[in-house]
Amino acid sequence: MEQQKQDAAEDVVIVGAGLAGVGVALGLHRKGVRSVVLESSPALRTSGFAFMTWTNAFRALDALGVGDKMRSHHLQVQGGPHEARCVQRNVLLQALEEELPAGTIRYNSRIVSIDDDKEKDGGGDAKILHLADGSTLRAKVLIGCDGINSVVARWLGLAKPLDSGRRATRGHAKYSDGHGFQPKFMQLSGNGFRAGLVPCGDTDVYWFLTWSPSCPDGKEDVDQSPAEMKQFVLAKLRSIMAPDEVLDAVERSEMNDVLVAPLRAQVIAASYMVGRVQQSEHAVVRFARDRLLSGVLAKGLLMMPDYDCGTL
Ligand SMILES: Cc1cc2nc3c(=O)[nH]c(=O)nc-3n(C[C@H](O)[C@H](O)[C@H](O)COP(=O)(O)OP(=O)(O)OC[C@H]3O[C@@H](n4cnc5c(N)ncnc54)[C@H](O)[C@@H]3O)c2cc1C
Repeated sequence: MEQQKQDAAEDVVIVGAGLAGVGVALGLHRKGVRSVVLESSPALRTSGFAFMTWTNAFRALDALGVGDKMRSHHLQVQGGPHEARCVQRNVLLQALEEELPAGTIRYNSRIVSIDDDKEKDGGGDAKILHLADGSTLRAKVLIGCDGINSVVARWLGLAKPLDSGRRATRGHAKYSDGHGFQPKFMQLSGNGFRAGLVPCGDTDVYWFLTWSPSCPDGKEDVDQSPAEMKQFVLAKLRSIMAPDEVLDAVERSEMNDVLVAPLRAQVIAASYMVGRVQQSEHAVVRFARDRLLSGVLAKGLLMMPDYDCGTL
């Protein structure tokens, strides 16, 4: 019986059907390489809202064959030579998935652990993947795309992601008759927080707020109800006299569209420093940021993702 289970084998196994996993599977498919994506959830996780994408992201989307589809759904954000668009997560994830051969993604397939294949003769460098339902799968090539709590990264011995100490909440406002916002990235910052608002298409606006909780254990502001969280965001924005249309976008966001997440990542020094400056409450830093550096910081943020990654 055990032998039968272990006979299940695939050449290329990708763990996680998020944007990374589905994107890698599609890239391989375009090159004629078959892969299987194991996803723990029962369906594609299309929740979430949106994120900014720049020129390199569209190079990658063009290479995957979904660039024009994304352009048709999302406005080009003005402000420089960059191709910048605020892409809705569900629209992109679904577009990538639709291009995959049927059956590529196997849902309800959570990997719990990974072993080296002990059968050196038949296995070589293959890995044995143990799934939550007790089955196993042998993989010649294993690609980890399983997000921030990655089982594959843990098995590889990679460092745990650090908690940046910051929190983020995001929202998505719908305007059935059109929002009337300019296609621009509006950035607002205040004492210990940073917010942004950007239109995705003609009827959708994405906004976010990131902040450093003043409570050292980081629990403050996180365990609130969506209604309280909305009031928390509005209070921050009112404290800097944000424009009425920004307040309206937050007000009209549906309650269950608001979520809070601790921001965790492998730390990149430059991003960390920019973030510290953007959110500092120190009087001198605040003066420099708001009066002298705001243009430089905004330009810097645009430059960072816009390096030329070359032809894909
Ligand atoms: C539901 C969701 C909503 C999001 N919304 C936003 C947003 O609005 N704005 C924004 O800027 N960013 C958002 N993000 C974050 C952003 O999508 C990610 O930072 C980025 O896309 C990284 O993608 P990823 O594919 O590497 O990881 P993820 O998007 O985290 O995908 C990882 C996938 O792996 C699966 N998985 C995890 N562990 C296992 C396992 N052991 N076995 C099998 N499968 C496993 C997960 O279910 C998930 O589908 C969201 C992420 C998620 C998961």
